[in-house]
Amino acid sequence: MVDSKKLEFFKIPHFVVFGSRAIEKIPEVLRKVGLLPDSRVVLLTGPTTTYNIAMNLVYPKLEEVTTHVEVVKVVREGDMVRFLLELRGFVKRFEPSIIVAVGGGSVIDCAKVIAHWLGIPYITVPTSASHDGIASPAISYLLRKKLSECIGGDYSILDPPIAVVADIDVISRAPYRLLAAGCGDLIAKLTAVRDWKLAHRLKGEDYSEYAASLAISSAKLVMHKADYIPKLSEDSVRTVVKALIGCGVAMSIAGSSRPCSGAEHLFSHALDYLSEKYGFKPAHHGEQVGVGTILMAYLHGMRWWLIKKFLRKVKAPTTAEELGIEPKYLVMALTIAHKIRPERYTILGDSGISEKAAWKLIRVTGVVGESSD
Ligand SMILES: [Zn+2]
Repeated sequence: MVDSKKLEFFKIPHFVVFGSRAIEKIPEVLRKVGLLPDSRVVLLTGPTTTYNIAMNLVYPKLEEVTTHVEVVKVVREGDMVRFLLELRGFVKRFEPSIIVAVGGGSVIDCAKVIAHWLGIPYITVPTSASHDGIASPAISYLLRKKLSECIGGDYSILDPPIAVVADIDVISRAPYRLLAAGCGDLIAKLTAVRDWKLAHRLKGEDYSEYAASLAISSAKLVMHKADYIPKLSEDSVRTVVKALIGCGVAMSIAGSSRPCSGAEHLFSHALDYLSEKYGFKPAHHGEQVGVGTILMAYLHGMRWWLIKKFLRKVKAPTTAEELGIEPKYLVMALTIAHKIRPERYTILGDSGISEKAAWKLIRVTGVVGESSD
């Protein structure tokens, strides 16, 4: 429980617009957050499809409010930290009042970091619903790690977006695999909250009942609609987006990613780390986290087979083969996961899991070979 005498302070998005043709509401949102006709806006976007969405749908809406719009493309190549530092210089010279980020994870992460450095707000316009970063104050593990190592500072919690504009029509056109990954990131809240409770009981860590229940209800929301999600209807996409936004808010309330990220995330971060070290292709964040949730649910003594069933229903990966990652790397990730964020206590404890136990874990849960479910 959070100390009742402790002063709590958190930031959450001021406006959330989601539904069909939500992008049309951008001018209204910009005016509500105080944008004036002479204000400057940086439109941050990615390449190809994302760029086309930004230019064809979002750019004309920005022009309805101001003529000072600078378009900046984020290209995932080379050294990300150097790219961000260059981007900061470029964006700073333009002196924008706000950043509008149109895209997936890396574009939104860039907006969070640049907005943090320049002390300005940002709006997210997600083009897919593959992770809970669309409304959260957190950035990806690898970027956070690289920023801290290269330039110092704590990047674990930044500001959440001042507004989220989630257009269901746009998100529905993204590959289905991304929506299924979003479901993996959502189901993870079941084990993340268990880990948080464990850390609260064993290590005296602050625990917010409200943030935890918001994260859990987001996971349950998609579990109840598992049969409908692969139909890719407006309602199913809306459910996933709503749940992901709920998780972002849960993190803001908690003041950390705790309600949404436990050992299943450490496992995924470990896979990302190993993929750079050994040169294999990682799966999507939500896909790795989903498999991690099966594994950590087993360690927690939870009904892990229900998590696996859910992931199968939404057509998300449940095996090493479906992740496209060799079993030996999953085992390696399991054995090093507890070292990824040593301050984050989870079911993996202070000393982690042995290689032998890791092999047993991936076999008994059917992540490799036949499961016993
Ligand atoms: Zn996540």
